[in-house]
Amino acid sequence: MSIGRFAPSPTGILHLGNLRTALASWLSARSKGGRWIIRMEDVDGPRCRHEFGEQQLRDLAALGMESDLPVIWQSDRSQAYRTALGALHEADRLYPCHCTRKDLQMLASAPHEEDGLRPYPNLCRPRPWEGFETALRFRLPDGPVAWTDELMGLQRDDPATRTGDPLLFRRDGLFAYHLAVVVDDGFQKVTEIVRGMDLRSITATQIRLQEALSLPRPAYAHLGLVTAPDGSRLGKRGGALGLTELHGRGVPVPDLLGWLGFSLGCLGRPEPCAAADLLPRFDWAKVGKGPIALPVDWI
Ligand code: GLU
Repeated sequence: MSIGRFAPSPTGILHLGNLRTALASWLSARSKGGRWIIRMEDVDGPRCRHEFGEQQLRDLAALGMESDLPVIWQSDRSQAYRTALGALHEADRLYPCHCTRKDLQMLASAPHEEDGLRPYPNLCRPRPWEGFETALRFRLPDGPVAWTDELMGLQRDDPATRTGDPLLFRRDGLFAYHLAVVVDDGFQKVTEIVRGMDLRSITATQIRLQEALSLPRPAYAHLGLVTAPDGSRLGKRGGALGLTELHGRGVPVPDLLGWLGFSLGCLGRPEPCAAADLLPRFDWAKVGKGPIALPVDWI
């Protein structure tokens, strides 16, 4: 059975791009008769707030999307992440890292990738094991990873040269996003991951982690981002456009769903509808690959 998930971080409202991703993942799983689940990724320390997560769940429900299984909050899952770290240590894939933020800032000062960060040069790899109370990095194997993206086709990326060995655990007790995502997708038997294009660059690292934990590889689809009407990056105003703000601007839920459905190739033009109306019309082959501009009168 197909199992899709939407995995927001409760650090604020769900903006238009998040809502589009949520709907695409819902349509993809449900149109195959599969399950759709929501997971709250609140491992990111103080930026995450329970109230934001609750609001996100209410907004998704208002659009007609509810999780088929109880919502998992990653802050409740520390034990599972510890167990995974134990397995990675058994497989000799972890090493302690003592680099300070300052060391890493110096490394990051010469832009390399499009995100402006140089890969971590695996400085601490030679360190002997010191136990689980220290920062831990994952030893990546050399070489590229290939996978097929539902929208982008064949992808190839080398995480070892892009990012270097990722940090999985911080000395202050925080588990890294990569670890939590991979462990939970495995635990929840997720078969398809739909998310924004801005996360495409971390897919290869996550595939390496799945391999190291002997977890199956889900299918991936990375959706183009929502831009301002002129195609530029959404600024603060547009970036904060969520359900409540749109409502305040006179965009009722059926109109929003109509635009989202249109933007995902389900409708020839935006027209008011319910999420369920879009189900029989959803087809990945009709979803555009590029970014999509939000309507002029919404901003
Ligand atoms: N929690 C991540 C975010 O909101 C998304 C993770 C994922 O879909 O893999 O940016």
